[in-house]
Amino acid sequence: MPPFSKVLVANRGEIAVRIFRTLRELGIGCVAVYSDADRGRAHVRAADEAYRIGPGPAAESYLRGDVLVEAALRSGAQAIHPGYGFLAENAAFARLVEQADLTWIGPPPAAIELMGSKTAARAAMRAAGVPIVPGAVDPVGSASEVVGLGAEIGYPLIIKAAAGGGGKGMEIVRSPDEAERAFDAATRQGERYFADPAVYVERYLEDPRHVEVQVLADAHGNVIHLGERDCTIQRRHQKLVEETPSPAVDDALRARIGQIAVDAARAAGYRSAGTIEGLLTGGGEYFFMEMNTRIQVEHTVTEVVTGLDLIREQVLVAAGEPLSLRQEDVVLRGHAIECRINAEDVAKGFLPAPGRVTAYREPAGPGVRVDSGIDAGDEVSELYDPMIAKLIVHDVDRDRAIARMLRALEEFRIEGPPTLLGFHRALLEHPCFARGETCDGIVESKELAERAEELEQSFSHRTTSVAHGSDGSATTVPRLVAVEVDGRSYDVSLHVTEPPWAGLARRRRERSASGRGAGGNGAVLSPMQGTVLKVEVGDGDAVEAGQLLCVIEAMKMENEIVSPRVGIVRDLAVSPGAGITIGQLVCVVATPEPQ
Ligand code: ADP
Repeated sequence: MPPFSKVLVANRGEIAVRIFRTLRELGIGCVAVYSDADRGRAHVRAADEAYRIGPGPAAESYLRGDVLVEAALRSGAQAIHPGYGFLAENAAFARLVEQADLTWIGPPPAAIELMGSKTAARAAMRAAGVPIVPGAVDPVGSASEVVGLGAEIGYPLIIKAAAGGGGKGMEIVRSPDEAERAFDAATRQGERYFADPAVYVERYLEDPRHVEVQVLADAHGNVIHLGERDCTIQRRHQKLVEETPSPAVDDALRARIGQIAVDAARAAGYRSAGTIEGLLTGGGEYFFMEMNTRIQVEHTVTEVVTGLDLIREQVLVAAGEPLSLRQEDVVLRGHAIECRINAEDVAKGFLPAPGRVTAYREPAGPGVRVDSGIDAGDEVSELYDPMIAKLIVHDVDRDRAIARMLRALEEFRIEGPPTLLGFHRALLEHPCFARGETCDGIVESKELAERAEELEQSFSHRTTSVAHGSDGSATTVPRLVAVEVDGRSYDVSLHVTEPPWAGLARRRRERSASGRGAGGNGAVLSPMQGTVLKVEVGDGDAVEAGQLLCVIEAMKMENEIVSPRVGIVRDLAVSPGAGITIGQLVCVVATPEPQ
């Protein structure tokens, strides 16, 4: 007998598709929800039935707890799985679900609440004897308090939104004069993204590894861990590559941090799948950072080395069953790596790059898994996370897994928006990654961005066409075709002349996409579509190169637009709260008049 007859997944994209796969195997009916922007999308097609929950913006659809519960009741579902993101770590939603007599496939609301506040979690963990990152456990109320703490615990510091997540609401402070701006930014982001301006301060550890431990707990008092994941490779404090085992963790350290994680989960009264995130220093110290009370994006690498299905464990635990295994039954086999394939432009500082995917083919073969929720013709919407797919490989050891990942990345074909395929290839072939180092300073370096671009270009040369020609007239394209001569296939490039109108749309696209920085006349154009959050300058202000002009929010990320040069602000064309499109004028930074 299946534990539930029907389950509603309150999510979209790859994670909804992933959860439906497990539900199907368990003989459970699959109920999807969708916003207007997701009508007919992969996760809707993967379900047995689907319900519209509102317009595209998440606040009007995937974040509407009341509408989601209503859809579940209407469908006759008995339980709700929240996936990750959206309402997955919202205790009020979990309670709403339980009040409607539905089963919440996740941890107890009280545990979500405790871990949702980084300050409360730090205090609880410290009380339970779990080592926490040195710093305060109480919120700070002003920049001068930050400076006071700096004198006490030393620089650098990191200010974090107490309710933060997803790398947002975090600001590094290297000296007292940076405190004011960092405090303001962290407070603003806390307020904006988590409706909570509270921030606190902890020590910023230099070049640590992000090492997290997967735990599973049931309602019968069993708590086990499934080893670690190393998620050190990040940009903007957000993960890009995850692997297990960590190159820096041996059996003894694994046993130690595993025990810390089990203690932390017990202290939180935990049930379901969860992750204890921590920082590992070069000296081998391990500090608790936070607990994620949900399934994580990177749960996949743990699944492939343990052979377990973590979503299945979650569903069965929610139905009251005991865990399917004991700690001594956990076996970790081989090495797994996950690369997040996002629609992002590496050359433009990993700027989210929404757009239509015009061609799409996933890699396959031994040891390759792809979790995705997209098809050719689908739009990567600016409304949601820019992740297109997760590419996961498994092999006997790390070196083999890297080689396998490089092969799979090369096989992956995505046309339309720029993606991280080239970036991942550049990173995984870099000696720092091969050596298992933290690659600090390499991930966001120009060197890597250039190599990534090179790899992307060589790939598009092989498959379709690359164009160049900058005047307004005809454009010559090298177009690669396969020809067969005497039974052997050759790749041949054809240099063909495109009529002017064919190249026009592309040139327009290229022009509008090259908005970051200034043109020859000092015009600063918006590199993205979004909303202006904050304007830091006024007409006539003198600015330095690199000085903040304004902050634009796009795809749930704050992007700072800085002055490309020394000059005077003229023609300021943005105001807080206003929408802005790619290529729209922000202001002109004019050359100062000679005195
Ligand atoms: P979020 O909840 O927004 O994901 P975390 O607290 O998990 O934020 O931190 C995200 C990342 O930021 C970590 O993986 C780590 O790379 C970096 N980080 C966070 N706190 C510190 C710290 N005290 N010292 C150094 N790096 C940190």
